[in-house]
Amino acid sequence: MATGPGRSIRDLLAQGGRSFSFEFFPPKDEAGEQQLWEAIETLEAYRPSFVSVTYGAGGGTRDKTIAITGRIARDTSLTPVAHLTCVGHTRAELESILDSYAGEGIEHVMLLRGDPSDGPRAEWVATDGGLTYAVELVELARSRGDFRIGVAAFPEGHPSAASRDADADVLAAKARAGAEFAVTQMFFRGQDYFDLVERVRARGVDIPILPGIMPILNLNAIRRQGELIGTEVPTDLVARISAHDGDPAAMRAEGIAIAAELCEELLAGGAPGLHFYTLNRSKATLEIFAALNLTV
Ligand code: FAD
Repeated sequence: MATGPGRSIRDLLAQGGRSFSFEFFPPKDEAGEQQLWEAIETLEAYRPSFVSVTYGAGGGTRDKTIAITGRIARDTSLTPVAHLTCVGHTRAELESILDSYAGEGIEHVMLLRGDPSDGPRAEWVATDGGLTYAVELVELARSRGDFRIGVAAFPEGHPSAASRDADADVLAAKARAGAEFAVTQMFFRGQDYFDLVERVRARGVDIPILPGIMPILNLNAIRRQGELIGTEVPTDLVARISAHDGDPAAMRAEGIAIAAELCEELLAGGAPGLHFYTLNRSKATLEIFAALNLTV
């Protein structure tokens, strides 16, 4: 499953391999740092095709993305993917961060626009001297170095997109600009993912689109986050989890079961793999793996 030195995620998928990957975020403090490395160490045994590290909205965690991905590249057998967003950066700063990634030996990058500092629903205003859309960052990275590029995709459409079709045009444009793979926002209806893949294929674009998996471990938190990013938790799933109200362990188990069912549906329907939003913990991902009978 591992990409190994010199192998790209695109090549792995082109050879028919299934990709299992994990996403982490840069922690804010020492305790978070320890939790992150414990999760990375545990999940390394599963030989994921890659692990990705998000890029923060600002402040100290941004440098950490470079430091953590660099350490993963140096000290583990894993293939790191470093995220980068356009938020608050000029073109020259973005060039310099891309150069830092290359200097750390990071080949794979996930290039995003990012969200306004007031949250995903606020109006997007580009930084002076910066970029407006992720596609421009893809173009910049292509002109800057030999990067293998991933981008974001949205099974329910990006919340500010005019339509799901317009959003598919955007993903197709990012692929034409040089993106080799996409990872989706969290979603809970398999059909939304299959419809997105179909829309993108209808535009003559064949890049692998990895579904992003987020188990519902805290229903209220996921619903709040979903409202912000345009992901709906379907009423039948709300009912299944709410049926265990007052029994946190049973609610959690139902959330894991729901995620495992979605994973099965996606793989059976031809998804090229699964990308897990781990929240820097290994437990839920391993529970889903167990439910899917995936072992080391
Ligand atoms: P874009 O592709 O630029 O799209 C943004 C909006 O503009 C969409 O509505 C799109 O339809 C529209 N659009 C794009 N191009 C055009 C055009 N040419 N003309 C008209 N409209 C256009 N955020 C972080 O801050 N850090 C992270 O590390 C991070 N990682 C993520 C990883 C994944 C897998 C996903 C799915 C999201 C991630 N995000 C992250 C969130 C992401 O930054 C937001 O969802 C952001 O609002 C959109 O980013 P994008 O790259 O899709 O932007």
